[in-house]
Amino acid sequence: MSGQIERYRKVIENIARAEAKAGRSPGSVRLVAVSKTFEAGDIRPVIEAGQRRFGENRVQEAAGKWPALKGEHPDIELHLIGPLQSNKAGEAVALFDVIETVDREKIAAALAAEMRKQGRSPTLFVQVNIGEEPQKAGIAPDRAVDFVRQCRDRHSLSITGLMCIPPAQEDPAPHFTRLAQLAGQCGVESISMGMSGDYETAIAHGATHVRVGSAIFGGR
Ligand SMILES: *Cc1c(COP(=O)(O)O)cnc(C)c1O
Repeated sequence: MSGQIERYRKVIENIARAEAKAGRSPGSVRLVAVSKTFEAGDIRPVIEAGQRRFGENRVQEAAGKWPALKGEHPDIELHLIGPLQSNKAGEAVALFDVIETVDREKIAAALAAEMRKQGRSPTLFVQVNIGEEPQKAGIAPDRAVDFVRQCRDRHSLSITGLMCIPPAQEDPAPHFTRLAQLAGQCGVESISMGMSGDYETAIAHGATHVRVGSAIFGGR
C-alpha cells in the first residue's frame, strides 16, 4: 500500500471520529483532498481508494493535470481553493465544479458572465478573510452578508457556502466559530474550513467541508 493510501484512510477515520464526537451524523463532513503540487501519479491511487473530491489552488496547474483525470473518472468534483484572477474566470468555470474563493465584485461579475456564456454553473462559495489579515484574500467578515446578497441580487449568482483560512499562528477555534455564525447570517449551508493541522477542530465547530492536503499526500 502506498503511503498516501494509508494516510488517506487515517484521515477518513479521524473525520468519522470527529463527527461522532461532535454529535454530527456520519458523512455530514466532506473531505476535499488538496492535491496541489502533486502529479497525476500521486493522485491516482487516492482516486482508486475511492476519493472523488479534490482541491487545487492554481487554475493553471489544475488545467494541466485534471482534464485527463476527470476523463478517467467523470464523477470527480474539483474545487478551486486558491485566489482567482478575473482573466482566469473562463478557464475556472470550464474546469472546476466548486469555486470556493469568490471574494470581490469584479470576480463575481466575471464568473456570472462566463457562466452565462458557457452554460455551466459551478457551485460557489465566498471566501472570508476571517482574521482580517491585510495580505490575505477574502471579503472582510463584516461585509460578508452584504457581499453574498450582492452576488445574488446584482449577478444572480447562487452562493451556497463560506470558506476561510484562519491566521497561521492563532488558535483557529474562535475563527471557525465566527465563520459558522456568518454562514448562518448569510443563509448558506456549506462551511469550508479546516486543513491538515486543524480539521478535527473545524468539524467540532460545524465544518461541512475540510480541505486536507499534506496529511494525505505528504509534505510539499
Ligand atoms: C494548501 C491548502 C490547503 C491544505 O493545506 P494542508 O495544510 O496541506 O492540509 C487547504 N486550503 C487551502 C486554501 C490551501 O491552499
